[in-house]
Parts: sequence; C-alpha cells; structure tokens
Amino acid sequence: MRIVFIGPPGAGKGTQAERIIEKYRIAHLSTGDMLRAARDAKTPVGVEAETYMAAGELVPDAIIIAIIAERLEQPDCQYGYLLDGFPRTLPQAEALDAMLAAKGTALDVVLELNVPEEELFQRLAGRGRADDQPDVIRQRLVAYREQTEPLLQYYRQQGLLKSVDGIGTVEEIFHRVEAVLDPYAC
Ligand code: ADP
Repeated sequence: MRIVFIGPPGAGKGTQAERIIEKYRIAHLSTGDMLRAARDAKTPVGVEAETYMAAGELVPDAIIIAIIAERLEQPDCQYGYLLDGFPRTLPQAEALDAMLAAKGTALDVVLELNVPEEELFQRLAGRGRADDQPDVIRQRLVAYREQTEPLLQYYRQQGLLKSVDGIGTVEEIFHRVEAVLDPYAC
C-alpha cells in the first residue's frame, strides 16, 4: 500500500501515522522526522535545512526530493509506505509521480486529515517544539495554505484524494482512517 498523508501542521498526522504503520505494516517516511534527525546530527543537509525549519518555511524542493528519492530505494519500501509530510509542493508531487512511474508503481490513495485553521493554532501553541513559537506557527500555516493545499486539487483530479475529519478523539479519527484505508490493504 502506497499512501500520501496530507494535513496542516497540528492536524494530528503524527499520531495517526503511528497507528497506520502499525496496523498496515508499512514503512513510515516522515520528512519532518528525517530533517530533524539530519539537523541534530549536523549533517550538511541538516545544517542547511535548519534555517528554513526554524523560520517555518519549507526546505527547498531539490533537497527534499533528493532525500525521498534515496529513501524510496531502501528495501523496506517495497512493501509499501506512508509518505508523511511529502509532497508539500506541486513540484514535489510531480517529482514523486516521476519517481513512481520510473519504478512502474503508483500511489493507492492520498489521505487528507482535515482540521479547520482556528483549531490548529490552539493545538500547536500548546505543544512546545522549537518551531512552535507563535510567529513560526503562523508561517507554517501560511506555507500550508499557499504551497500544500493546491495539492488537494492535484490529487482530487487524479481520483486519489480521500478526506477524513480530524476533529474528535484519536480513536474516533483512526476509525475514519481505517474505513478509508482498509479497502486498499492486501
Ligand atoms: P509540521 O507538519 O508540524 O509543520 P513537519 O514535522 O512535517 O511539521 O515538518 C517540519 C518542518 O520541516 C517544516 O516546517 C519544513 O520546514 C520542513 N519540511 C518537512 N517536510 C518538508 C517538505 N516535504 N518540503 C519542504 N520542507 C519540509
């Protein structure tokens, strides 16, 4: 099963992603986690990415596309994966399509976790990560609205988009997620 998981910062994607990979036994490819690991290890990519992340801006497409291209070659990806935080821009989505086409594979489904913006700010402000300062949160929400939301239309046109309401308990939301994903599980 190859899934793209889309949702604004603070939507609860990380929590649901953990449940998804456990139930469906697929690899978890979180670009946020990969970038934070690179930053903490002070690799050249990590050092460059840090300035963008700290400002709530997206890391340049070329960097992130190279990271994903390499990651998709790892053996665990052959059994399927959950892409969490990628793609986040139209060029990233197009690059992903090209990578998949080159492998003769395709996405099964694009899952959107839908949470209204008013709710997101509250949740993020209570979390306490380094990029959870109010002005950085605002910038991440702007980046989502301007650069990532257009992907919903892109995937809707491909007939891949399924949206799930992200308001409720973790359990309630996971039931909605399962209802969408179960038909694709083998
Ligand atoms: P959130 O969804 O809570 O904003 P993530 O953990 O997914 O957080 O990402 C944290 C930061 O890492 C983003 O604000 C951005 O700077 C960078 N990042 C992660 N994924 C991408 C991506 N696909 N393209 C560009 N930048 C990214």
